[in-house]
Amino acid sequence: MFEKILQELQELEGVKHFSIPIHPDKDGYIDKECPDEKCMFQFKVHDEDWSALFDNEKVFCPMCRHEANSKSWFTTEQKNQGQRKIRRHIIARINNALHEDTANFNAEQQDHSFFKMSLRFTGSHGPDYILPLLSKEEMELKIQCQKCNARYAVIGSAFFCPCCGHNSIEETFANAIKKIESKINNLNIVKEALVKSVGKDAAEITCRSLIETGLNDCVVAFQRYNEAAFLKRETGIKVRRNAFQNLEAGAALWLQAIDKTYSDWVTSSELHDLRVFFQKRHLLAHTEGIVDSKYVVDSRDSSYKAGQRIVVKSDDVIHCLKIVKKIIAVLRN
Ligand SMILES: [Zn+2]
Ligand SMILES: [Zn+2]
Repeated sequence: MFEKILQELQELEGVKHFSIPIHPDKDGYIDKECPDEKCMFQFKVHDEDWSALFDNEKVFCPMCRHEANSKSWFTTEQKNQGQRKIRRHIIARINNALHEDTANFNAEQQDHSFFKMSLRFTGSHGPDYILPLLSKEEMELKIQCQKCNARYAVIGSAFFCPCCGHNSIEETFANAIKKIESKINNLNIVKEALVKSVGKDAAEITCRSLIETGLNDCVVAFQRYNEAAFLKRETGIKVRRNAFQNLEAGAALWLQAIDKTYSDWVTSSELHDLRVFFQKRHLLAHTEGIVDSKYVVDSRDSSYKAGQRIVVKSDDVIHCLKIVKKIIAVLRN
């Protein structure tokens, strides 16, 4: 009696791990999640590349570059679903064994005996195999690393290749542009929603801040690209920190390194506007946008007097972005 259940329990005791297959989505990608609790960024990796290219010891988070071995990247959903599947599998195996033992016991009872015992087991009886985990919906933004060719997918943007950790300046710049454009292009939608939910004042302040941070984003994207592109050339010229945040200093570095500079790449009026935008951004960062006499001198913008507050419109951000892109396009080639 109860041979089957004893046997099953013994077998279960010996199991060190259950394996659950994971089905890729219809584009061939499987879900991953950054194990760092601060981040938990979800992304996808192409199933073929995961087995062919990735290093078991080292996988990187595309958002924060956290590093961990390849077993650490299951998503919260996969872990929860997996636990449920294993629990169901164990219960099914135990139930099935008890059903079998019960049936065997009942079959062994002989009709002619003086009294008859019969067992009934009411637990459910059913399949005990583990079905694969399914993947979440496909992600639209698919990226292939320029360095190692690994394919991965994200929502929004990402900075690092999960396979080799490479941070492409092109990718970072493209992400920054996308951020600026989405801030400016969605301004009306954001404003409308905010007016309805939190009122006109808060909507106005929030949208103004989105425009002003857009200007800051342009300067930072420009600076980072310049710096990375300059260092990549290994000219041996010493670059102090944030040198490219200053248009004159940046221009001088390029002139020294390649004998050409911003004034060769954009018109003098564009360069003037860019200088004004850089100075306005400096005020936003350091004086809450209040004009000082240094601004008037450095920007050569005579439309403000010291003590005024600068005005930044969404068209300014679009114009600034256009000039920044024009310079970056030259540097790229
Ligand atoms: Zn992360
Ligand atoms: Zn890579």
